[in-house]
Amino acid sequence: MVKEKSKQALLDQIAADIMKQNICPDLAKQATQLVLGDGNPDADIVFIGEAPGKNEDIQGKPFVGASGKFLSEMLALINLKREDIYITNIVKYRPPNNRDPLPSEKAAFLPFLHAQLEVIKPKLIITLGRHSMDVLFPGLIISQAHGKPIRLKGQVYLPLFHPAAALYNGGLRQTLIDDFAKIPLILKKTQK
Ligand code: URA
Repeated sequence: MVKEKSKQALLDQIAADIMKQNICPDLAKQATQLVLGDGNPDADIVFIGEAPGKNEDIQGKPFVGASGKFLSEMLALINLKREDIYITNIVKYRPPNNRDPLPSEKAAFLPFLHAQLEVIKPKLIITLGRHSMDVLFPGLIISQAHGKPIRLKGQVYLPLFHPAAALYNGGLRQTLIDDFAKIPLILKKTQK
């Protein structure tokens, strides 16, 4: 009997495919390493951010800097730890000087994001910030869409503000915390 590959092995294969297919060579050249994702491949929730920053590029894991710390604090408010969730970014290499990812870069990585979601099969997909929301729901406006679950083809999504945007903006910070508090109920209502 052929043994089924573990989810982690399948995710490792996606990382290998990105490198083999030489996706975004200009970004790859100046980045320290590929940052595919981190956390539990069996998670009910996948968070999708924008792109690795300086710390993420060095450590090879998403959300390990200031916004990662804030994210962990918000997870703790709903009794979750990083090990309970899976976290990734739309773009898997650090853009130079943390510039916004280009539309072409987001498009190039999108099939690999879909492949990750296909492996993990989460109950809830949470986008952090407008860049990851935009690739899944082009045209949505974050200030209107945040905190409202979207059900599409049997999958539930929740757009949220990006922790980095909310970190130093008191109003946005409270909005993000309030939106986070909705996660347990949204998850509970999600049938899969
Ligand atoms: N911001 C992101 O969007 N992703 C990271 O991995 C870190 C900061």
